Amino acid sequence: MCRPRPQPVVLEQIETIAALRSRLTHGGAVGLVPTMGALHAGHVALIDAARRDSDLVVASIFVNPLQFNNADDLARYPQTLDADLSVCRDRGVDLVFTPSAAEMYPQPPECTVDVGRMADNLCGKYRPGHFRGVATIVLKLFQIVQPRFAYFGQKDAQQLAIIKRLTTDFNLPIGIVEVPTVREPDGLALSSRNRHLNAEERKIAVSLYVALTHAATMIREGARSAELIRRAAVDLVPQTAGLRLEYLEIVDPNTMQPLMEVDGPVCIAGAMWVGATRLIDNVLAVP
Ligand code: AMP
Repeated sequence: MCRPRPQPVVLEQIETIAALRSRLTHGGAVGLVPTMGALHAGHVALIDAARRDSDLVVASIFVNPLQFNNADDLARYPQTLDADLSVCRDRGVDLVFTPSAAEMYPQPPECTVDVGRMADNLCGKYRPGHFRGVATIVLKLFQIVQPRFAYFGQKDAQQLAIIKRLTTDFNLPIGIVEVPTVREPDGLALSSRNRHLNAEERKIAVSLYVALTHAATMIREGARSAELIRRAAVDLVPQTAGLRLEYLEIVDPNTMQPLMEVDGPVCIAGAMWVGATRLIDNVLAVP
């Protein structure tokens, strides 16, 4: 563990891989926080964790085209670079890496990470190729930054499980630090996409979290049939116009495979469309 850094810290913004590599030759413990920007308090929790563990904190801001299976979704993704840079400055980030798409992909990649069955269900089922894109960009960032630790949110449970497995399968000497989901007071998980919600949508958006926590309560109270728990949770989602549950599943938190019976820790994960905005969330439950 390192001493807290004196404030204020001078923030450096770096746009090229070559400049970042030449800046990262000092030998201390580097903590990497990969993001797509539009930073909020969830990202800040990752940055703060990195600041506690590392000599040098690198945050990356890159909206990775390879993980978007829908061009409109990519075009609509919020970009707030100036505000993001000031968040990074305030939280003591040392380097912000903001490459262009051409810098990261000077040519369409021929080699990508093939994720396998962990990407087959949940978000992977509805966003074909998404986790190939995620695993590929994270592996590239790991190669470029060579961090000692990298920080990921439990909010994206399938992503987190896949990144942990990527590090194991490829023998990467990187500690994956998972950070609990930061929520609004009513329970809605913070997300860069929440800024797309209008006032009415914002009110009903919490119903995914309500359904997930209902399933977790059933498990704590002794329910064991995944299908019965799942159905009870799904039934709680209001049949309101503008709200559509995409999936709600009970899976093994390490493999992301669906379970029939709850006989150990589980991840209850869901995705819901609120108007034109797709939100995801999950909770962990222990019987
Ligand atoms: P994103 O910018 O959405 O790709 O997210 C970058 C990182 O922040 C990922 O590791 C996410 O899991 C994490 N993250 C996003 N939202 C939250 C949240 N509400 N709480 C904790 N971590 C989060």
